[in-house]
Amino acid sequence: MKHQEFLSALDQPRIVSAIEGAEKRTAGEIRVHVQPKVVGAEIRTVAEKTFERLGMTKTAARNGVLLFIASEDRRFVILGDKGIDEKVPAGFWDEIIAKLTIRFKNSEFTDGIIEAIGAAGEHLERYFPRQADDVDELSNAIDVSDE
Ligand code: CA
Repeated sequence: MKHQEFLSALDQPRIVSAIEGAEKRTAGEIRVHVQPKVVGAEIRTVAEKTFERLGMTKTAARNGVLLFIASEDRRFVILGDKGIDEKVPAGFWDEIIAKLTIRFKNSEFTDGIIEAIGAAGEHLERYFPRQADDVDELSNAIDVSDE
């Protein structure tokens, strides 16, 4: 499936609502990035650069989580910032990625992403419960690159 086709199949408002919903329970910040492919570099390295570019290393508690999606490659990375990596066990995100992979195989893109956001939110809530003075530090919009 081509990237544009993938994008038109995505229900972006529902995904943004899912991020809002997850962030109501946690002080953490969740972002979703979509691009067609990763060429000439490790996907994790590209995801790290995206994390940086989106200003995700600048949250106060270093508790941003990025779901990075290469739509045509059908590959995913979930990156947590320092504050999260210090607290969570190794392999923390693997189960979410495994489920997302199955969802994408079934062309359940929106539902898969929403499920991943929900699961990430649940995990985050455990380590970073929402505070009364919570600030929405990062946009909830999906970051889309066409290449
Ligand atoms: Ca946010």
